[in-house]
Amino acid sequence: MSTREPDVALTRPVADEVRKTTCYMCACRCGIRVHMKEGSIRYIDGNPDHPVNRGVLCAKGSAGLMQHLSPGRLKKPLRRVGPRGSGEFEEIEWSEALDLAVEWLGEVRGRDPKKLAFFTGRDQSQSLTGWWAAKFGTQNFAAHGGFCSVNMAAAGLYSIGSSFWEFGEPDWDHTKLFLLFGVAEDHDSNPIKLGLGKLKTRGAKVISVNPVRTGYSGIADEWVGIRPGTDGLFAGALIHQLLSADQVDHAWLAAMTDAAFLVVRNPGGADDGLYARDAEGRELVWDAKRNAPAPSDDAHARPVIAGVRTLPDGRKVVPAFQLIAERFLDPAYAPDAAAEKTGIPADTIRRIARELASAAFDAPPSLPVAWTDWAGRRHETMEGRAVALHAMRGISAHSNGFHTCRILHVLQMVLGAIDRPGSSRHKPPFPRPCPPGPKPARPAAGPNEALSGMPLGFPTGPEDLLVEPDGTAQRIDKAYSWDFPIAAHGLMHSVLHNAWAGDPYEIDVLFMYMANMGWNSAMNVPETLKYLTDTKEDGSYKIPKIIYSDAYYSETVPYADLILPDTTYLERWDCISLLDRPISGAHGPGDSIRQPVVQPDRDVRPFQDVLIELGARLKLPGFVDDAGKPAYPGGYPDYIVNHERGPGIGPLAGWREAKGDTHGRGDPNPDQLQRYIDNGGFWHEAFPDDQLFFKHANKAYLENAHSKGWIPSSDRIVLRLYTEAMQKFRLAAQGHGPHQPPEAQRDRLKTYFDPVPFWYAPFESDALADDYPIAAITQRPMHMYHSWGSQNAWLRQITARNRLFIHHTTADELGVRDDDWVWITSPIARVKAQVKRMAGVEPGTVWTWNAIGKRRGAWGLKAGVPETEKGFLLNHLINDLLPVQEGGLTYANADPVTGQAAWYDLRVRLEKCEPHEVGKTSPIFEHFDTAPALGGQPDILRAVGPNISPPGGPPTPATEWVGQRAAYVPGGLDLERDGGGRRIDEPTADTQDGGTAQ
Ligand code: SF4
Repeated sequence: MSTREPDVALTRPVADEVRKTTCYMCACRCGIRVHMKEGSIRYIDGNPDHPVNRGVLCAKGSAGLMQHLSPGRLKKPLRRVGPRGSGEFEEIEWSEALDLAVEWLGEVRGRDPKKLAFFTGRDQSQSLTGWWAAKFGTQNFAAHGGFCSVNMAAAGLYSIGSSFWEFGEPDWDHTKLFLLFGVAEDHDSNPIKLGLGKLKTRGAKVISVNPVRTGYSGIADEWVGIRPGTDGLFAGALIHQLLSADQVDHAWLAAMTDAAFLVVRNPGGADDGLYARDAEGRELVWDAKRNAPAPSDDAHARPVIAGVRTLPDGRKVVPAFQLIAERFLDPAYAPDAAAEKTGIPADTIRRIARELASAAFDAPPSLPVAWTDWAGRRHETMEGRAVALHAMRGISAHSNGFHTCRILHVLQMVLGAIDRPGSSRHKPPFPRPCPPGPKPARPAAGPNEALSGMPLGFPTGPEDLLVEPDGTAQRIDKAYSWDFPIAAHGLMHSVLHNAWAGDPYEIDVLFMYMANMGWNSAMNVPETLKYLTDTKEDGSYKIPKIIYSDAYYSETVPYADLILPDTTYLERWDCISLLDRPISGAHGPGDSIRQPVVQPDRDVRPFQDVLIELGARLKLPGFVDDAGKPAYPGGYPDYIVNHERGPGIGPLAGWREAKGDTHGRGDPNPDQLQRYIDNGGFWHEAFPDDQLFFKHANKAYLENAHSKGWIPSSDRIVLRLYTEAMQKFRLAAQGHGPHQPPEAQRDRLKTYFDPVPFWYAPFESDALADDYPIAAITQRPMHMYHSWGSQNAWLRQITARNRLFIHHTTADELGVRDDDWVWITSPIARVKAQVKRMAGVEPGTVWTWNAIGKRRGAWGLKAGVPETEKGFLLNHLINDLLPVQEGGLTYANADPVTGQAAWYDLRVRLEKCEPHEVGKTSPIFEHFDTAPALGGQPDILRAVGPNISPPGGPPTPATEWVGQRAAYVPGGLDLERDGGGRRIDEPTADTQDGGTAQ
């Protein structure tokens, strides 16, 4: 029977053109289709062909239209005319703005380039911004990783050569047990949703370890409501159980990791804790066949992973695995001991350990795919371990986050569950050697000099630190100093304090890009605002000049002296590059572009274009040619196509060489961007089957990766249970070697630079437990990202204010009911919030949605909107500094290894508000007058362009499809009632409960 095509149009045409680009409503880099009608954007949906999201689009992504139309968009360059913080600006032309920027920047570069501090937020062009900083000659560059999840990235890169999310992903097709730690819905978003869908379809088990049951935890098969900051102890207890039951993948550990590498035991000696090496510098193992040491790359050796041995030179050595076993078999990691601190019953810990072992070792997946290992040995199958882990900021943003993340990787390694069928997998260009190169570049040799390398890198010992001979930090944020030796992403959260304090030195210009450092990307907001506005005795600002680029009027804008307005993501070129954080999957490499789907209707310019022009006008090496002419006169798209970081290696890997027939490495192709557009905005290549797993030890993969420039050689990549680099810092603290820390810092280094990961209580939880008995954390709603969502007319209708979520029993003890108001008090401040009770939270923890609270006047929000009156930030309560230490030292409130901001360490106490105190949040900061900068705004926010008429019908107002609830009054939601009779500033019960309250 044939089906007749209907001869009537069942859907009216809503678009006449589709342009494909990459979403930027969060960091997941999904492919989107932007549907256009007569040149205007009508709506956005997911690109079904895109490898990241396969057509799936989240609420944020579809609301990109309202981000593009936000009344908070900056419209023209601005120069401050009133005091900082007043919001008094005058509009200036771009020529004047750029002249001013060049004058300020040129003066700094000609005198002392490090006096420029250049920090960006969730910038997806870091390979450009970092390169610009290097050519400028300032080591003071970083993006927001130090505030976000550097613990996760650094621990992964020092342990397994990749990390969760951006550099790795679970094998959704084969895993049987998926364990999530501290994951909210943003890291990552659509790819995890797709993956969870697969797991649910296959019947795999999902366990979520998180103090709060929202989002992914809500659909997990088991929610483990852990106490904040104790994840490392929980994971350590799992390792304890696995070791005790001998449920360990001995053969894999010996073959793939440093488990067998011999570590010198010579307490007090200069070689204590270092790998034993032969004359060629190769690490040694103990070969059971010959009962003698052998080089670790001797494929014929049978290395042992336990037992004390004596080298021919008389030194005692033990395999690294033995040190791991000694650490985690310690009674401190026994489930009964861990239960008390984690809040997880010992029997639950023991059961989950059994489930992990069962998923790993009972009927593991086996793929009939032959592959060849690094030593040339052919294997007929790919044998798996069906356990996958994923973790993110919840465990990372603690002062014990680096070691906690390393413990998770040890857990994976003892199960043999790295890049095998069913386990967590590497995404190209990872894995890289552990730790990867390069080292952080040294400061510039002098005025007008560039750095010799990139500002950020990976130290492997004290000799790589950026410190003066007396130990003083050479970076403004003290990254790579004795304070934070492995600060691989810098410390964005310390820049303002240190620049204000002139510690270690004063700066001249602070240059920021899309970093809301005056609000939700700050700890201790009132102090932060003081740093931005404080003056010297002569009345000049302590931070003399501030240049800021953003697309929107954020809370940071009024504190800058010069504003360079950026475009929205739908108005510019961009590349999601293998040089940065690409869209690769474990199945193969990929990268993508953004293309301008519409032209700006304001006097704004893409920041990347501006940066390239500034580089050329400052005559930075690489930004001008030999004749001193701009190297990229076409701006960022010109750079994307023609820049080469190494021979044949450019920002985009697809369609290289003149004919566009080469991928990976090749000469620039002038038609490259068009080839991306023709392909839907992305390039993706699938690995042959024999390269899909064991990438760290897979000969074909390693040779392929080396040929593409991802890794420096095709040598195998040894995964590391033991971090020898840490021991080098500890040895220095013990007095060994030419690079010595200041006396007062020795104990801290000895304690926290343990080469074997260990769990310790977060700094604030022990010290403040009596007076501040409750842990306070934030979660990211799945419909918002950083501060961006709270200006979005559609997303604000889901959440326009936040409440403090409290467990029922805790609420009963306080005598508070839903909608009551409480004071949340930390050692430095107090904030007032409205309460929502729930069951899905660990009873000793309270939480709220992140970055909903807004400052009056910012983001184009009108007076009285819920975000400013009832929305609040926990940031105000978080100290940016730890209490003064012995010897008068002050440290940032951060992980002592990486400098990761420890904002999840926050401890508070709660008090019910008096009746006269209820109704509004507190503190409420002064209102900005943004009208001069933002200009007139429409009464109703609507897509511009023609109205849409159904065939033969009357014209339909554009507002109709925007929707009744989307009626948007300049700067904010109108407090009118929606179709259901609910005031539209009232979040729905399900979103207030995270949808999963029990
Ligand atoms: S998860 Fe959503 S917001 Fe993030 S990139 Fe994908 S569609 Fe955009």
